[in-house]
Amino acid sequence: MANTPYPESYYAASANAVPPRPALQDDIETDVCVIGAGYTGLSSALFLLENGFKVTVLEAAKVGFGASGRNGGQIVNSYSRDIDVIERSVGPKQAQLLGQMAFEGGRIIRERVAKYNIQCDLKDGGVFAAMTAKQMGHLESQKRLWERFGHTQLELMDQRRIRDVVACDQYVGGMLDMSGGHIHPLNLALGEAAAVESLGGTIYEQSPAVRIERGANPVVHTPQGKVRAKFIIVAGNAYLGNLVPELAAKSMPCGTQVITTEPLGEELARSLLPQDYCVEDCNYLLDYYRLTGDKRLIFGGGVVYGARDPANIEAIIRPKMLKAFPQLKDVKIDYAWTGNFLLTLSRLPQVGRLGDNIYYSQGCSGHGVTYTHLAGKVLAEALRGQAERFDAFADLPHYPFPGGQLLRTPFAALGAWYYGLRDKLGV
Ligand SMILES: Cc1cc2nc3c(=O)[nH]c(=O)nc-3n(C[C@H](O)[C@H](O)[C@H](O)COP(=O)(O)OP(=O)(O)OC[C@H]3O[C@@H](n4cnc5c(N)ncnc54)[C@H](O)[C@@H]3O)c2cc1C
Repeated sequence: MANTPYPESYYAASANAVPPRPALQDDIETDVCVIGAGYTGLSSALFLLENGFKVTVLEAAKVGFGASGRNGGQIVNSYSRDIDVIERSVGPKQAQLLGQMAFEGGRIIRERVAKYNIQCDLKDGGVFAAMTAKQMGHLESQKRLWERFGHTQLELMDQRRIRDVVACDQYVGGMLDMSGGHIHPLNLALGEAAAVESLGGTIYEQSPAVRIERGANPVVHTPQGKVRAKFIIVAGNAYLGNLVPELAAKSMPCGTQVITTEPLGEELARSLLPQDYCVEDCNYLLDYYRLTGDKRLIFGGGVVYGARDPANIEAIIRPKMLKAFPQLKDVKIDYAWTGNFLLTLSRLPQVGRLGDNIYYSQGCSGHGVTYTHLAGKVLAEALRGQAERFDAFADLPHYPFPGGQLLRTPFAALGAWYYGLRDKLGV
């Protein structure tokens, strides 16, 4: 049987030790079968267990194998589209609910870390950095917008103030969110998995769901076993493949790449990011970076549409890092890796139900660390019969990619090229 290890990364190399988990080799029954042990699956499992459900998680590879164990580690609140865009699409009542939830994911992460004593280098403080006056204007209106929904902790920074928190000359200003921050993402997933097990949940690794038998009592098949459940939660996101064709048709896996320097030492690290905040810029094809617990710089950026693995990640990302921090020109890159997130045409998440008992959440299009934690809570609420917040997400429109599965990659790349050009021209 296939034994898929973690891809080589800084996170895999610095992961907290955990015992291996078995593959499913039996026929079992459970209340909820969760497919995928990333944040969406683990957060759903935890909320369900806390509410008395019996939960079984099937993971094709290992806990946090997907984006949840490879991401930039940035706790970025809200969604990949602004609330005013959402409001225009679904109306004020739904927008009000979604707006109120926009910062809840970050709170859930902090609650999880505290309640289950998860060792994942959690740090407070995230910066949105503006590269042009237009982007700064956008941050100002975004702050006003978020305040309308009760999120008043944000601080605008002028050019001088942002230079105090990040030693990069590219920015004209920015916005600081102290409810943002950063984590070691794989260790967060591993800690959440341990919490699932501490509450009696079961996680099977190396156990891909290969077929779902739909019906009143759905059955999930793996190569050597099956799980009969009252409910199924599909949480495979960009790694799901074609298991659920309805979900594959309206989303597109995309790759994004990350590099990690050698340890910089306390002094150099502090000179770059004195308060240890994480930073993302405001471009459509954005760069994002932060320090690790052992004072390396993790720098991410770039998108590969269609999720092909680029040949030389360092050659793509290092020049971006040196543009932001020329002072790192002699610093060695110790790790470089790629991971897949799931893009939707609207860039908003797709949440819903297939038939009566198969629930899903996917496609947060980049800003997923907080959203996925919220999604787990909202899915668990729906399974408990409280669907108001679930419905607010489920009512967001889902669009198929133009050109279908064959042409969605070139069309999306064309769109990104256009927005990338706008970023470059500062328009
Ligand atoms: C390189 C990178 C950097 C990123 N940086 C950030 C960031 O800094 N901040 C931020 O907010 N977001 C970031 N994101 C996005 C964020 O990581 C994701 O949105 C989020 O982790 C998605 O979580 P998930 O649980 O939905 O999916 P995943 O974490 O991808 O988990 C899906 C899991 O399902 C499993 N699976 C799939 N199919 C099956 C099956 N048939 N049977 C069983 N298991 C299956 C997979 O093996 C995988 O473990 C980044 C993403 C990438 C790739």
